[in-house]
Amino acid sequence: MALLQIENLHVQVERTPILKGLDLTIEPGQVHSIMGPNGSGKSTLARVLAGHASYQITEGRILYDGQDLQEMSVDQRAVAGLFLAFQYPVEIPGVNNTEFLKAAINSVRRGRGQEELDALSLLKLLREQISVIKMPEDLLKRSVNEGFSGGEKKKHEIFQMAVLQPRL
Ligand code: ADP
Ligand code: MG
Repeated sequence: MALLQIENLHVQVERTPILKGLDLTIEPGQVHSIMGPNGSGKSTLARVLAGHASYQITEGRILYDGQDLQEMSVDQRAVAGLFLAFQYPVEIPGVNNTEFLKAAINSVRRGRGQEELDALSLLKLLREQISVIKMPEDLLKRSVNEGFSGGEKKKHEIFQMAVLQPRL
């Protein structure tokens, strides 16, 4: 079964039609790059997949792992392994990075019926994965993205992916 199957997808935002009949099938393990001119609807597609409330599907459907994505709430989508990286990652001063990741990891684990990670196992996981992306460990003590360079913010998105292990 395809991981993602998009059929004849029509999407509008604020009554403006943006996507007009998109078909796309992604099998598990495949890598796809979607390219197109500015304003052609790439970000619109990403937002619809993530469940942004302003974007309405007016025709067609999206099946994720065989399930109708439209019927899943945003958090159900995350639990099912969907991850959307930010084009422009936001700085969240005052929110400690470790606490942020802990909340994300454990809410996904709860949703999957897995036990939450305790402080020690969490730290072990974060330290392992942060070395994979070659970022300094003190990043874990800082606020989410605060003062990070553009490249560091992008790397931090990859770090979140590494610890959340999404499927799409
Ligand atoms: P891309 O990512 O391919 O550059 P987008 O998906 O961001 O394109 O945008 C597609 C079109 O939808 C653009 O013309 C954009 O101005 C329009 N659009 C996106 N969001 C809104 C919105 N909230 N209100 C009105 N138009 C929007
Ligand atoms: Mg875009």
